[in-house]
Amino acid sequence: PEPLLSNADVQHPDGWLDAHWMAFSANREFKAAPRLIASAEGSYYTTTDGRRVFDGLSGLWCAGLGHAREEIVEAVGRQVATLDYSPAFQFGHPLSFELANRIVEKMPTGLNRVFYTGSGSESADTALKMARAYWRAKGQAGKTRLIGRAKGYHGVNFGGISVGGIVGNRKTFGQAVEADHLPHTQPPNGSFHKGMPPAEAPDGWKGAALADELLQLIALHDASNIAAVIVEPFSGSAGVVIPPVGYLQRLREICTAHNILLIFDEVITGFGRCGQWTGAAAFGVVPDILTAAKQITNGAQPLGIVVARQEIYDTFMEQGGPDYMLEFPHGYTYSAHPVACAAGLASLDLLERDSALQRVRELSPVFETAVHSLRTARHVADIRNYGLAAGITVAPAPGEPAKRPWQIAMDMLRKGYYVRYGGDTIQLAPPFISTEAEIQSLIAALGDSFNATA
Ligand code: PLP
Repeated sequence: PEPLLSNADVQHPDGWLDAHWMAFSANREFKAAPRLIASAEGSYYTTTDGRRVFDGLSGLWCAGLGHAREEIVEAVGRQVATLDYSPAFQFGHPLSFELANRIVEKMPTGLNRVFYTGSGSESADTALKMARAYWRAKGQAGKTRLIGRAKGYHGVNFGGISVGGIVGNRKTFGQAVEADHLPHTQPPNGSFHKGMPPAEAPDGWKGAALADELLQLIALHDASNIAAVIVEPFSGSAGVVIPPVGYLQRLREICTAHNILLIFDEVITGFGRCGQWTGAAAFGVVPDILTAAKQITNGAQPLGIVVARQEIYDTFMEQGGPDYMLEFPHGYTYSAHPVACAAGLASLDLLERDSALQRVRELSPVFETAVHSLRTARHVADIRNYGLAAGITVAPAPGEPAKRPWQIAMDMLRKGYYVRYGGDTIQLAPPFISTEAEIQSLIAALGDSFNATA
């Protein structure tokens, strides 16, 4: 195939690309026609052959403030020179406490204890372990089963894939943790709901009632065996699946009534993408535990968080034995990494100073109208959106459901736009700093790419 980027400027010996086994990538296809990014600034990448590419997914949903923001660059540089690392266990440094206090200000009332990890996957597994250990500390050690949801994505570690619901991420690895799954809430193709689907759609699809399936799982396993339910407020990786009106409220009610912890995985929805600090705030439902990552540092450093209700923290402290003993034997070398915390503080400053949430709320209707204009483009089977995120389901080519999304994304890249393709969807999450004109040209280019695809 003709290389997408010539790479003519990069002189490397044959086999130079072989050693790096790339993450979540089609290694053979990539290495035959590499797409190498040299630098980034604002909403644009520059490839190694000097082309500008608009960042239609804010990196991987993480760089909403745009790339190479001076304040973050400076904070990271300053911190690495001051304290590049300090031991994460039994010692601390001031920045992690400062950042935790700042994070708590942004969280729904009552979520006020912050545990640090290095990624979204680590945050998911931390939250699941925290839930099990919490019930054990409360004398209910039988409450171990974890409930996720079809189409859910909670990273790639064993806990996360056990509760996750994307078959491609699960089927290869066997079962690890006892889990069960709620049905997904994606409306049938052709629904084209804007924002939240109604509780009950005119075609009879009853989205909100899907939460009641949790009652079936409780009847099957009994609540005395269930530790937690984990869902994304809206699912990102599966192709942007938005909760129907009333659905999350119903999940909350059932969890409360049956003494089951509710965990929101806000790795994509947290810190601005919904136009609020959290999906919990956007959808008006407060979980017991909330995870986040990605946008906290604007992607400039790896950092994840797990934020728990104070009663959960207090339970660990009260059951912790002598005060020199660990209350929660869990954590990572890079938990509360000082450089990541510095990036987090700088990013929070910028999210506030740029009024980024307000900007997302202003841009969202423009984005919604633009993305739904693709409804009549070739192969478009459905469109879903919320805040500055959208998923477009691509009608499958016979026998090859993932092929057209790849072809469309590659065509977009040739034209100077990066969009994500995953499963049978194209996913968009433009930077919060996008202009209306950039959104319009992204969508116009995408429409052309859909129409040009066989
Ligand atoms: N949880 C959700 C909802 C995500 O979207 C992701 C990544 O996209 C993760 C967890 C995993 O995060 P990471 O790739 O940082 O481990």
